[in-house]
Amino acid sequence: MSWNPAFAGLDCLACGERHPPDGAAERCPACDGLLTVALEVTPDDVPDEDNGIGLWRFGPVLPVTRSQAVDLRPGGTPLVQAPGVADELPVAQLFVKEEGRNPTGSIFDRGMAICGGALTHAGVTEIGLASPGWSGQAASTMAARAGMERAVFVPSRSSFAAKALINVAGGEMRVIPGQFADAVAAWRDATADASWHPIDPAVNPYLRRGLATVYWELLAACQWTLPEVVVVPTGSGATLTAVIEAAIAAKRMDWAADTPTVIAAQPAGCAPIVDAYEQESDTPVPVQHPDTICGELEIPEPPAGRLALRRLRAIDGSAVAVTDQEAFAGAIALARRDGIIPSIAGGVATAALSNVGDLPHDATAVVINPGDGLTQADRLRSYLMSQGE
Ligand SMILES: [Zn+2]
Repeated sequence: MSWNPAFAGLDCLACGERHPPDGAAERCPACDGLLTVALEVTPDDVPDEDNGIGLWRFGPVLPVTRSQAVDLRPGGTPLVQAPGVADELPVAQLFVKEEGRNPTGSIFDRGMAICGGALTHAGVTEIGLASPGWSGQAASTMAARAGMERAVFVPSRSSFAAKALINVAGGEMRVIPGQFADAVAAWRDATADASWHPIDPAVNPYLRRGLATVYWELLAACQWTLPEVVVVPTGSGATLTAVIEAAIAAKRMDWAADTPTVIAAQPAGCAPIVDAYEQESDTPVPVQHPDTICGELEIPEPPAGRLALRRLRAIDGSAVAVTDQEAFAGAIALARRDGIIPSIAGGVATAALSNVGDLPHDATAVVINPGDGLTQADRLRSYLMSQGE
Protein backbone atom coordinates (compact mmCIF):
# COMPACT_ATOMS: atom_id res chain seq x y z
CA MET A 1 0.00 0.00 0.00
CA SER A 2 1.21 3.44 -0.75
CA TRP A 3 0.35 7.08 -0.44
CA ASN A 4 -1.15 9.13 -3.24
CA PRO A 5 1.99 10.19 -5.16
CA ALA A 6 0.80 13.83 -4.91
CA PHE A 7 1.00 13.69 -1.10
CA ALA A 8 4.04 15.87 -0.40
CA GLY A 9 4.01 15.82 3.40
CA LEU A 10 2.52 17.46 6.44
CA ASP A 11 2.91 21.22 6.78
CA CYS A 12 2.97 22.75 10.25
CA LEU A 13 0.52 25.63 10.47
CA ALA A 14 2.50 27.17 13.35
CA CYS A 15 6.19 26.99 12.41
CA GLY A 16 5.79 26.34 8.70
CA GLU A 17 8.03 23.29 8.58
CA ARG A 18 7.15 20.51 6.13
CA HIS A 19 7.43 16.99 7.53
CA PRO A 20 7.55 13.82 5.44
CA PRO A 21 4.35 11.76 5.24
CA ASP A 22 3.74 9.98 8.54
CA GLY A 23 0.41 8.29 9.08
CA ALA A 24 0.70 8.43 12.87
CA ALA A 25 1.48 12.16 13.08
CA GLU A 26 -1.14 14.42 14.53
CA ARG A 27 0.83 17.49 15.63
CA CYS A 28 4.13 19.03 14.56
CA PRO A 29 7.02 17.07 16.12
CA ALA A 30 9.03 20.32 16.29
CA CYS A 31 6.56 22.75 17.89
CA ASP A 32 3.33 20.83 18.61
CA GLY A 33 1.44 23.01 16.13
CA LEU A 34 -1.44 21.71 14.04
CA LEU A 35 -0.59 20.04 10.74
CA THR A 36 -2.21 20.11 7.36
CA VAL A 37 -1.94 17.66 4.49
CA ALA A 38 0.13 19.12 1.62
CA LEU A 39 -0.70 17.81 -1.85
CA GLU A 40 1.07 18.90 -4.97
CA VAL A 41 -1.96 19.31 -7.20
CA THR A 42 -2.74 21.45 -10.19
CA PRO A 43 -5.99 22.54 -11.85
CA ASP A 44 -5.53 19.43 -14.03
CA ASP A 45 -6.29 17.27 -10.99
CA VAL A 46 -10.00 17.22 -11.59
CA PRO A 47 -12.54 15.10 -9.72
CA ASP A 48 -12.56 11.58 -11.10
CA GLU A 49 -16.10 11.01 -12.34
CA ASP A 50 -15.34 7.34 -13.02
CA ASN A 51 -15.10 6.77 -9.28
CA GLY A 52 -18.81 7.33 -8.66
CA ILE A 53 -20.34 9.75 -6.21
CA GLY A 54 -18.48 8.88 -3.00
CA LEU A 55 -15.18 9.98 -1.49
CA TRP A 56 -13.03 8.58 -4.30
CA ARG A 57 -14.36 11.02 -6.80
CA PHE A 58 -11.90 13.32 -5.01
CA GLY A 59 -9.09 10.77 -4.90
CA PRO A 60 -6.59 13.10 -6.64
CA VAL A 61 -6.73 15.46 -3.65
CA LEU A 62 -6.70 12.88 -0.86
CA PRO A 63 -3.41 11.73 0.75
CA VAL A 64 -4.27 8.03 0.76
CA THR A 65 -5.30 5.84 -2.13
CA ARG A 66 -8.56 3.94 -2.15
CA SER A 67 -6.77 0.65 -1.50
CA GLN A 68 -4.99 2.15 1.48
CA ALA A 69 -8.08 3.74 3.07
CA VAL A 70 -10.37 1.97 5.50
CA ASP A 71 -13.23 2.18 3.08
CA LEU A 72 -16.76 1.57 4.37
CA ARG A 73 -18.10 3.62 1.45
CA PRO A 74 -18.69 6.96 3.15
CA GLY A 75 -19.76 10.04 1.23
CA GLY A 76 -22.06 10.31 -1.75
CA THR A 77 -24.70 11.69 0.61
CA PRO A 78 -27.71 13.48 -0.89
CA LEU A 79 -28.19 17.22 -1.12
CA VAL A 80 -31.90 17.59 -0.43
CA GLN A 81 -33.83 20.75 -1.23
CA ALA A 82 -35.93 22.26 1.56
CA PRO A 83 -38.33 24.67 -0.17
CA GLY A 84 -40.75 24.86 2.78
CA VAL A 85 -38.19 26.16 5.25
CA ALA A 86 -36.60 28.33 2.57
CA ASP A 87 -39.93 30.23 2.40
CA GLU A 88 -39.49 31.16 6.07
CA LEU A 89 -35.88 32.27 5.75
CA PRO A 90 -34.20 35.26 4.10
CA VAL A 91 -32.83 33.07 1.28
CA ALA A 92 -34.13 32.05 -2.13
CA GLN A 93 -33.22 28.37 -1.95
CA LEU A 94 -32.19 26.05 0.87
CA PHE A 95 -30.52 22.65 0.60
CA VAL A 96 -29.55 20.20 3.33
CA LYS A 97 -26.43 18.07 2.96
CA GLU A 98 -27.55 14.87 4.63
CA GLU A 99 -24.47 13.52 6.38
CA GLY A 100 -26.63 11.23 8.49
CA ARG A 101 -26.62 8.86 5.49
CA ASN A 102 -22.99 7.90 6.09
CA PRO A 103 -22.16 4.34 7.28
CA THR A 104 -22.40 5.10 11.02
CA GLY A 105 -24.66 8.10 10.58
CA SER A 106 -22.29 11.04 10.65
CA ILE A 107 -19.83 13.15 8.72
CA PHE A 108 -16.97 11.60 10.73
CA ASP A 109 -17.09 8.47 8.58
CA ARG A 110 -15.49 10.54 5.82
CA GLY A 111 -12.62 11.53 8.07
CA MET A 112 -12.09 8.11 9.60
CA ALA A 113 -11.75 6.46 6.17
CA ILE A 114 -8.71 8.63 5.46
CA CYS A 115 -7.36 8.75 9.02
CA GLY A 116 -7.68 4.95 9.29
CA GLY A 117 -5.73 4.49 6.07
CA ALA A 118 -2.94 6.72 7.37
CA LEU A 119 -2.83 4.89 10.71
CA THR A 120 -2.72 1.52 8.96
CA HIS A 121 0.15 2.75 6.80
CA ALA A 122 2.01 3.69 9.99
CA GLY A 123 1.46 0.23 11.46
CA VAL A 124 -0.84 1.42 14.25
CA THR A 125 -2.80 -1.53 15.66
CA GLU A 126 -4.47 0.05 18.66
CA ILE A 127 -6.21 3.42 19.03
CA GLY A 128 -7.78 5.41 21.86
CA LEU A 129 -9.91 8.52 21.67
CA ALA A 130 -12.42 10.66 23.52
CA SER A 131 -15.65 11.48 21.71
CA PRO A 132 -19.01 13.15 22.32
CA GLY A 133 -20.51 10.31 20.26
CA TRP A 134 -20.42 10.49 16.47
CA SER A 135 -16.64 10.43 16.06
CA GLY A 136 -16.51 7.48 18.46
CA GLN A 137 -19.03 5.59 16.36
CA ALA A 138 -17.01 6.23 13.22
CA ALA A 139 -13.71 5.33 14.91
CA SER A 140 -15.09 2.07 16.33
CA THR A 141 -16.26 0.76 13.01
CA MET A 142 -13.13 1.98 11.22
CA ALA A 143 -10.97 0.16 13.77
CA ALA A 144 -13.12 -2.97 13.53
CA ARG A 145 -12.69 -2.97 9.77
CA ALA A 146 -8.94 -2.36 10.04
CA GLY A 147 -8.45 -4.97 12.77
CA MET A 148 -7.30 -2.42 15.33
CA GLU A 149 -7.90 -2.63 19.05
CA ARG A 150 -9.80 0.42 20.26
CA ALA A 151 -10.79 2.25 23.40
CA VAL A 152 -13.41 4.97 23.19
CA PHE A 153 -14.10 7.37 26.07
CA VAL A 154 -17.57 8.88 25.97
CA PRO A 155 -19.30 11.13 28.49
CA SER A 156 -22.25 9.62 30.31
CA ARG A 157 -24.49 12.21 28.68
CA SER A 158 -23.74 10.97 25.16
CA SER A 159 -26.71 9.39 23.44
CA PHE A 160 -27.84 5.83 24.05
CA ALA A 161 -27.55 5.23 20.31
CA ALA A 162 -23.87 6.27 20.32
CA LYS A 163 -23.00 4.01 23.25
CA ALA A 164 -24.92 1.11 21.73
CA LEU A 165 -23.20 1.43 18.37
CA ILE A 166 -19.73 1.68 19.92
CA ASN A 167 -20.54 -1.43 21.98
CA VAL A 168 -21.83 -3.35 18.99
CA ALA A 169 -18.70 -2.52 16.99
CA GLY A 170 -16.64 -4.06 19.78
CA GLY A 171 -13.58 -2.87 21.61
CA GLU A 172 -13.44 -1.13 24.93
CA MET A 173 -15.83 1.67 25.83
CA ARG A 174 -15.39 3.75 28.95
CA VAL A 175 -18.37 5.84 29.97
CA ILE A 176 -17.09 8.79 31.99
CA PRO A 177 -19.55 10.51 34.33
CA GLY A 178 -20.24 14.06 33.21
CA GLN A 179 -19.71 15.99 30.01
CA PHE A 180 -17.28 15.78 27.11
CA ALA A 181 -14.54 17.69 28.96
CA ASP A 182 -14.63 14.99 31.66
CA ALA A 183 -14.22 12.27 29.02
CA VAL A 184 -11.25 14.14 27.51
CA ALA A 185 -9.59 14.48 30.93
CA ALA A 186 -10.02 10.76 31.65
CA TRP A 187 -8.70 9.85 28.18
CA ARG A 188 -5.62 12.05 28.67
CA ASP A 189 -4.93 10.50 32.09
CA ALA A 190 -5.26 6.99 30.70
CA THR A 191 -3.16 7.73 27.62
CA ALA A 192 0.01 8.15 29.69
CA ASP A 193 0.01 4.45 30.64
CA ALA A 194 -1.85 2.98 27.70
CA SER A 195 -0.44 1.07 24.76
CA TRP A 196 -2.87 2.64 22.33
CA HIS A 197 -2.10 5.37 19.84
CA PRO A 198 -4.16 8.40 20.91
CA ILE A 199 -6.09 10.11 18.15
CA ASP A 200 -7.88 13.42 18.41
CA PRO A 201 -10.61 13.72 15.77
CA ALA A 202 -10.57 17.50 16.23
CA VAL A 203 -7.00 18.00 15.02
CA ASN A 204 -5.93 14.92 13.03
CA PRO A 205 -4.83 16.28 9.61
CA TYR A 206 -5.87 13.15 7.67
CA LEU A 207 -9.29 13.14 9.26
CA ARG A 208 -9.76 16.82 8.43
CA ARG A 209 -8.90 16.16 4.78
CA GLY A 210 -11.55 13.45 4.72
CA LEU A 211 -14.09 15.90 6.15
CA ALA A 212 -13.20 18.36 3.38
CA THR A 213 -14.86 16.07 0.82
CA VAL A 214 -18.28 17.15 2.10
CA TYR A 215 -17.75 20.58 0.58
CA TRP A 216 -16.44 19.34 -2.76
CA GLU A 217 -19.37 16.96 -2.94
CA LEU A 218 -21.98 19.64 -2.35
CA LEU A 219 -20.27 21.82 -4.92
CA ALA A 220 -20.47 18.96 -7.44
CA ALA A 221 -24.16 18.47 -6.59
CA CYS A 222 -24.69 22.18 -7.37
CA GLN A 223 -23.16 21.52 -10.82
CA TRP A 224 -20.05 23.42 -9.66
CA THR A 225 -22.12 26.59 -9.30
CA LEU A 226 -21.18 28.21 -6.03
CA PRO A 227 -23.89 28.34 -3.35
CA GLU A 228 -23.69 31.79 -1.76
CA VAL A 229 -23.95 30.48 1.80
CA VAL A 230 -22.79 27.31 3.57
CA VAL A 231 -23.73 26.83 7.22
CA VAL A 232 -21.52 24.56 9.32
CA PRO A 233 -22.63 23.41 12.78
CA THR A 234 -19.52 23.89 14.87
CA GLY A 235 -18.15 22.18 17.98
CA SER A 236 -14.43 21.37 17.93
CA GLY A 237 -13.84 23.51 14.83
CA ALA A 238 -12.63 20.54 12.74
CA THR A 239 -15.49 20.46 10.22
CA LEU A 240 -15.57 24.25 9.97
CA THR A 241 -11.85 24.34 9.23
CA ALA A 242 -12.13 21.48 6.76
CA VAL A 243 -14.98 23.12 4.83
CA ILE A 244 -13.14 26.44 4.57
CA GLU A 245 -9.88 24.75 3.52
CA ALA A 246 -11.87 22.79 0.91
CA ALA A 247 -13.51 25.99 -0.36
CA ILE A 248 -10.16 27.77 -0.69
CA ALA A 249 -8.67 24.73 -2.45
CA ALA A 250 -11.66 24.52 -4.84
CA LYS A 251 -11.16 28.12 -5.86
CA ARG A 252 -7.42 27.62 -6.28
CA MET A 253 -8.00 24.57 -8.48
CA ASP A 254 -10.65 26.40 -10.55
CA TRP A 255 -13.39 24.00 -9.45
CA ALA A 256 -15.38 27.04 -8.28
CA ALA A 257 -15.32 30.71 -9.15
CA ASP A 258 -15.04 31.89 -5.57
CA THR A 259 -15.49 30.89 -1.93
CA PRO A 260 -18.97 31.03 -0.36
CA THR A 261 -20.00 32.88 2.77
CA VAL A 262 -19.33 30.25 5.43
CA ILE A 263 -21.34 30.60 8.63
CA ALA A 264 -20.17 28.87 11.82
CA ALA A 265 -23.23 27.95 13.90
CA GLN A 266 -22.92 27.07 17.58
CA PRO A 267 -25.41 26.50 20.38
CA ALA A 268 -25.53 29.58 22.61
CA GLY A 269 -24.90 27.43 25.70
CA CYS A 270 -21.44 26.54 24.37
CA ALA A 271 -20.27 28.99 21.72
CA PRO A 272 -16.57 29.73 22.30
CA ILE A 273 -15.75 30.11 18.59
CA VAL A 274 -18.68 32.46 17.95
CA ASP A 275 -17.83 34.49 21.05
CA ALA A 276 -14.19 34.85 20.02
CA TYR A 277 -15.17 35.80 16.47
CA GLU A 278 -17.55 38.48 17.67
CA GLN A 279 -14.91 39.84 20.05
CA GLU A 280 -12.27 39.81 17.28
CA SER A 281 -10.12 37.52 19.40
CA ASP A 282 -7.74 34.88 18.00
CA THR A 283 -8.34 32.46 20.84
CA PRO A 284 -11.58 30.92 22.06
CA VAL A 285 -12.05 31.32 25.81
CA PRO A 286 -12.93 27.94 27.36
CA VAL A 287 -16.58 27.80 28.43
CA GLN A 288 -16.69 27.11 32.17
CA HIS A 289 -20.27 25.87 32.39
CA PRO A 290 -21.38 24.56 29.00
CA ASP A 291 -25.08 23.91 28.85
CA THR A 292 -26.81 22.84 25.65
CA ILE A 293 -29.04 19.97 24.60
CA CYS A 294 -26.78 19.57 21.57
CA GLY A 295 -24.10 17.39 23.16
CA GLU A 296 -22.32 16.75 19.84
CA LEU A 297 -21.47 20.46 19.65
CA GLU A 298 -20.79 20.94 23.36
CA ILE A 299 -17.01 21.32 23.14
CA PRO A 300 -16.06 23.93 25.77
CA GLU A 301 -12.39 24.13 24.75
CA PRO A 302 -12.32 23.49 20.98
CA PRO A 303 -8.96 22.00 19.99
CA ALA A 304 -9.16 23.40 16.46
CA GLY A 305 -10.70 26.68 17.62
CA ARG A 306 -7.74 28.97 16.88
CA LEU A 307 -7.27 27.48 13.43
CA ALA A 308 -11.01 27.65 12.72
CA LEU A 309 -11.06 31.35 13.65
CA ARG A 310 -8.08 32.03 11.43
CA ARG A 311 -9.72 30.29 8.49
CA LEU A 312 -13.08 31.96 9.08
CA ARG A 313 -11.45 35.41 9.08
CA ALA A 314 -9.48 34.59 5.94
CA ILE A 315 -12.68 34.17 3.94
CA ASP A 316 -14.64 36.85 5.80
CA GLY A 317 -17.20 34.38 7.13
CA SER A 318 -19.79 34.78 9.86
CA ALA A 319 -20.39 33.18 13.24
CA VAL A 320 -23.81 32.84 14.84
CA ALA A 321 -25.10 31.36 18.10
CA VAL A 322 -28.62 30.01 18.52
CA THR A 323 -30.51 28.99 21.64
CA ASP A 324 -31.54 25.39 22.21
CA GLN A 325 -35.14 26.44 21.63
CA GLU A 326 -34.21 27.94 18.24
CA ALA A 327 -32.25 24.78 17.36
CA PHE A 328 -35.24 22.58 18.18
CA ALA A 329 -37.50 24.88 16.17
CA GLY A 330 -35.09 24.74 13.22
CA ALA A 331 -34.98 20.93 13.28
CA ILE A 332 -38.74 20.58 13.63
CA ALA A 333 -39.38 23.07 10.84
CA LEU A 334 -37.29 20.91 8.50
CA ALA A 335 -39.22 17.83 9.60
CA ARG A 336 -42.67 19.36 9.30
CA ARG A 337 -42.30 21.56 6.25
CA ASP A 338 -39.93 19.47 4.19
CA GLY A 339 -39.97 15.92 5.60
CA ILE A 340 -36.28 16.05 6.45
CA ILE A 341 -35.40 14.69 9.91
CA PRO A 342 -32.15 16.41 10.93
CA SER A 343 -30.02 16.00 14.02
CA ILE A 344 -30.27 18.77 16.59
CA ALA A 345 -26.93 20.03 15.28
CA GLY A 346 -28.63 20.33 11.89
CA GLY A 347 -31.30 22.35 13.67
CA VAL A 348 -28.58 24.64 15.05
CA ALA A 349 -27.35 25.30 11.51
CA THR A 350 -30.84 25.87 10.09
CA ALA A 351 -31.76 28.27 12.89
CA ALA A 352 -28.53 30.21 12.35
CA LEU A 353 -29.88 31.37 8.99
CA SER A 354 -32.63 33.27 10.83
CA ASN A 355 -30.11 34.98 13.09
CA VAL A 356 -27.53 36.08 10.58
CA GLY A 357 -27.95 39.55 9.13
CA ASP A 358 -27.37 40.93 5.63
CA LEU A 359 -27.88 37.77 3.56
CA PRO A 360 -28.68 38.48 -0.09
CA HIS A 361 -32.32 37.56 -0.62
CA ASP A 362 -31.57 35.71 -3.83
CA ALA A 363 -28.99 33.51 -2.09
CA THR A 364 -28.80 29.75 -2.29
CA ALA A 365 -27.88 28.35 1.13
CA VAL A 366 -26.62 24.89 2.05
CA VAL A 367 -26.96 23.63 5.61
CA ILE A 368 -24.71 20.76 6.62
CA ASN A 369 -26.65 18.31 8.76
CA PRO A 370 -23.67 16.49 10.29
CA GLY A 371 -25.46 13.46 11.71
CA ASP A 372 -28.41 11.14 11.75
CA GLY A 373 -31.63 12.67 13.06
CA LEU A 374 -33.46 9.36 13.35
CA THR A 375 -31.64 8.51 16.60
CA GLN A 376 -32.47 11.96 18.01
CA ALA A 377 -36.18 12.01 17.20
CA ASP A 378 -36.95 11.15 20.84
CA ARG A 379 -35.32 14.40 21.94
CA LEU A 380 -37.23 16.38 19.35
CA ARG A 381 -40.44 14.73 20.56
CA SER A 382 -39.61 15.52 24.20
CA TYR A 383 -39.20 19.14 23.21
CA LEU A 384 -42.58 19.15 21.49
CA MET A 385 -44.18 17.61 24.57
CA SER A 386 -42.59 20.30 26.75
CA GLN A 387 -44.32 22.82 24.47
CA GLY A 388 -47.69 21.21 25.15
CA GLU A 389 -47.99 19.03 22.03
ZN1 LIG B 1 5.72 23.29 13.88
